[in-house]
Amino acid sequence: MGLLSKGTSLSWEDTKKHADHVRKVGIQQLIAHYHRLKDRTNDQLKFGDEIEYTIVRLDHEKKVARLALVGPETLDKINEEEQRTPQEHVQTAWVPEYASYMIEGTPGRERPYGWCVMNYNIVESNMKMRRNQLVKALEGTGCIPLCITGFPRLGCPSFTDPQYEPTPTGGLSNSLFYPDEAIWKGHPRFKTLTRNIRQRKGENQAINIPIYKDQATPSPFVDHIPTTDETCLKNTMADHVYLDCMGFGMGMCCLQVTFQAVNIDEARHLYDQLAVLCPIMLAISAATPAYRGYLCDIDCRWDIISGSVDDRTKEELGLEPLKNDKFVIPKSRYDTISCYIHPTSDAFNDKPFPFDEEIKKTLQTQGLDEHLAHHFAHLFIRDPISLFEEKVQQDPEKETDHFENIQSTNWQTMRFKPPPPGSPIGWRVEFRPLELQLTDFENAAFVVFVVILTRTILSFGLDFRIPISKLDENMRRAVKRDAVKKGKFHFRKTIIPGDDDDDDDETDGASPPAPQEYEEMDIDTIINGKGGFPGVIPLMRMYVNSLEVDVDTRCTIQQYLKLIQKRASGELSTTATWMRNFITQHPDYKQDSIVNDRITYDLLVACDRISKGETCAELTGSLHSRTIRDIETCPGTAKRKSQSEDVSVKHRKMSQNN
Ligand code: GLU
Ligand code: MG
Repeated sequence: MGLLSKGTSLSWEDTKKHADHVRKVGIQQLIAHYHRLKDRTNDQLKFGDEIEYTIVRLDHEKKVARLALVGPETLDKINEEEQRTPQEHVQTAWVPEYASYMIEGTPGRERPYGWCVMNYNIVESNMKMRRNQLVKALEGTGCIPLCITGFPRLGCPSFTDPQYEPTPTGGLSNSLFYPDEAIWKGHPRFKTLTRNIRQRKGENQAINIPIYKDQATPSPFVDHIPTTDETCLKNTMADHVYLDCMGFGMGMCCLQVTFQAVNIDEARHLYDQLAVLCPIMLAISAATPAYRGYLCDIDCRWDIISGSVDDRTKEELGLEPLKNDKFVIPKSRYDTISCYIHPTSDAFNDKPFPFDEEIKKTLQTQGLDEHLAHHFAHLFIRDPISLFEEKVQQDPEKETDHFENIQSTNWQTMRFKPPPPGSPIGWRVEFRPLELQLTDFENAAFVVFVVILTRTILSFGLDFRIPISKLDENMRRAVKRDAVKKGKFHFRKTIIPGDDDDDDDETDGASPPAPQEYEEMDIDTIINGKGGFPGVIPLMRMYVNSLEVDVDTRCTIQQYLKLIQKRASGELSTTATWMRNFITQHPDYKQDSIVNDRITYDLLVACDRISKGETCAELTGSLHSRTIRDIETCPGTAKRKSQSEDVSVKHRKMSQNN
């Protein structure tokens, strides 16, 4: 979850006192950094994914599933293993995440996947390797790792193992449901963020999720929360499930993809283009139908996580006149992007958003163009919400902590990332909306899909941009139940340059498409094409077909694209739909929206079996990849030669085996 520097956490009061200082030095750090790196170019494509795992303990006798608070010690164990057998661990890296029942795994620090096409075929193997390492580290504990986005009974009584009581009138979360012991115990960042976000806001988060109204669900449905506290009760809503702290959001897991662009311009371009695909891909990856033991009327985590770190005060929310605060802020820190950032995208920024005038001016005076200055001046309206005493004094030239502090607590659908200081890494873009799939095959498919999409955009000069106001609407629609099948999304009718006869200056992007140039499409049309609309995947296939690539990699890519294609067409279910069906068809389910302990246990047992390789026809049909473990010689300049060698070696091996 971003910056993991350590130290003595400051209270919210003290952090607040340093807010202007952090912003000021953070901006100086950005400027120094920008000047060092703005002309950096010719970086190659490199990419990496982040998987946040959930650790579950299944009690097979009592038939209950609990979230096991063993993340920190599991991380220690993996690190010890790494010390013992460094060679086996160079390809993976592990870090803490928000909750003690979570842990995050990525490809090795110095080992992102590279540009050559065979890399698409090692993503899945790398994920398998990570899973195996985690399984091994958990051996003997009775715990298993699962790639689920949200535990269906998160926040229900005794959802953790060991069990702890929540502390609604004290502690960090002040939650009626979520004990502070569930927050990652080995790193101060997570606890500090929890407390400071709540204190900054001035009260607990209040997140209301629409309940799924089944035949026997009471109407109106009233969430009987265990309190007599007037404020809490006032914050609940009829027909909604109530959640009240950061853990409900940041205690959920996702799949993220980061890739390196050739230079800053390409990074800005891809940031804008991919932003439009965020709601679409969120809907296709949907995996969270149940919250706090209730089946809900949404399929994705997004609004919950957005509400869970929403630290806006009443003034900032526009509920009280501005007195102590500077801005009315329309979005949470965790939300869709507020603006496109490429210089040609300006006309699509049709929604005003707050920004710090002075910061913008400073950035422009220091040579950033208006669009980038605007973007950062917007991110920097936020206060730092976690600060360590030892880190307050910073070198504006050499360090970047204060910049990263604000940057990494702006959790938007996309993140534009300057190169880290003193490293070989270039300008990067992070794609953040995806929910987790149960299997490595599916997760690899989503990762590879996003990366090939970037290649296709660049190769064909595709243009997906729609006005930001429409993008915001798309996001509201994407989280709804069954958005893939039922939702309509604003999309451009013309995404290939030169396809539109009426428009002869499409490349400069100076004006947004006229309203008649985009329309509401379903996801099947957007992804697979229909009528005159080409569809994203057919274009990606054209790109892939033009590549010189070994047979295994080609087969794997085709299977990945098929998965996304079939999810988009509805031929295969989203994970959310599969889970919803599992729950509603369970013998214990009483058509009353309640997901009890036994249903949760059986669901997670099924998830575990599927994760381990049991075929689930509803989710993946008969699709499977030909992933390979590693590329021994990922060919650089001698690409063609070694690739064909590689293929022929495999063929020989195959024929020997047969
Ligand atoms: N767990 C968060 C999510 O589900 C992401 C946190 C992060 O940025 O690492 O979106
Ligand atoms: Mg993370």
